[in-house]
Amino acid sequence: MDKMKLYDELLIVEKHLGSMLAQIKDMKDVVDSLVEENLNLELENQHLRDKLAKQEQAEDDKQELSKSRLNLEKLYEQGFHVCRDFYGSRRENQEECVFCSSMIYGK
Ligand SMILES: [Zn+2]
Repeated sequence: MDKMKLYDELLIVEKHLGSMLAQIKDMKDVVDSLVEENLNLELENQHLRDKLAKQEQAEDDKQELSKSRLNLEKLYEQGFHVCRDFYGSRRENQEECVFCSSMIYGK
């Protein structure tokens, strides 16, 4: 191989390497943005999972509350006080009790 030809081929290889380096840089940029996007999606996913879990918990609490109110209502209709002051004592002559009502129907 003569020296001129060797030099020309080195130039060609150098050019190829240059364009390969540019390609590698482009690919690295794509990987970087994919990693970042993936991280954001993971964070968003976690956030949505937390939100869903909280909603489910709130729903459970609500059901629990209405169940205990139903129990109070049943006791009240059976003729007992369910209010704090007279809890468990009999309502004379089925008298209405505003405290019981607020226990059962209040907030
Ligand atoms: Zn009462």
